[in-house]
Amino acid sequence: MKPFGLRSVSCSLVAGTFLLLGLAAQRKAAAQTAGDSSKKLKVYISVDMEGVAGTVTADQLIPSGFEYERFRRFMTDETMAAVRAANEAGAGEIVVSDSHGNGENLLIEEFPKNVRIVRSWPRHGGMMAGLDSSFSAAIFIGYHASTTNPKGVRAHTFSSAHYARVTLNGNAVTEGEYNAAYAGAKGVPVIFVSGDDVAVAEIKSRLGDIESVETKKSLGFHSAETLTPGVSCEKINLGVKSALSRLHDFKPYVIKTPVTLEITFKNYTPAELLSYLRSVERVDSHTIRFVGKDMDEIDDFEEFVGNYNADLAP
Ligand SMILES: [Zn+2]
Repeated sequence: MKPFGLRSVSCSLVAGTFLLLGLAAQRKAAAQTAGDSSKKLKVYISVDMEGVAGTVTADQLIPSGFEYERFRRFMTDETMAAVRAANEAGAGEIVVSDSHGNGENLLIEEFPKNVRIVRSWPRHGGMMAGLDSSFSAAIFIGYHASTTNPKGVRAHTFSSAHYARVTLNGNAVTEGEYNAAYAGAKGVPVIFVSGDDVAVAEIKSRLGDIESVETKKSLGFHSAETLTPGVSCEKINLGVKSALSRLHDFKPYVIKTPVTLEITFKNYTPAELLSYLRSVERVDSHTIRFVGKDMDEIDDFEEFVGNYNADLAP
């Protein structure tokens, strides 16, 4: 999520081809998978940037980077590839959450009228803000590996600057698994993820065999062998389309409640100070534990810990 945060012609061509080939079949499938024809397909798309094809360093990921303006376009294109797949499958509503860096990366004027876009922070629900039980499915675009994974490009969990480890019920999690648990608590299954090969393998090891696209092969924390943006968009469009055509195959990822969250900080002081709160237990020098009744409570706690700063203004 936090990085410390050329229009693709081929995306449109591919989308157009699919529109001609399979619109009727997709609509029918969507109506079936949505349970009955009265319930319109409603899709949630959470978008990060580290897993977008070509991103390897802060040069692409933060607004001051020399390649940022081009890469926010590529991030938008990959998201649009998923949006088009959802619309071709008959989606009624789509919510896209801009969940990288400042939360203001996506070029919002590019999206069709049935898309609403969640921007900036802080916000209840974090990278899944706006999700509720009315959604049919959740999709992750541009996701990356966790902070405890030694191999992924820009691997981290929520804060690369401050967190060394985040666990739910004792398991170190990726942002993908954490967000899947948030969605699962609302009965919404995650059906697709895109990111580098390491991120995709890590998320699938927890969520099971969801549809996926490897946008690049990780060669290190700051290096990768990547698909071109156009090819990445083509694959994402196909993958999301495939996932939506077999919606019944995916189950919500539900974890046991109450939920135990542990956060290991890179520094001592946050752990010391948070342990002043009676609801927080200090587990070791760098780690605190919080037990929440559900993922909403867990996420509100994490959002607070991640965003609070006494210097905040206004
Ligand atoms: Zn990010």
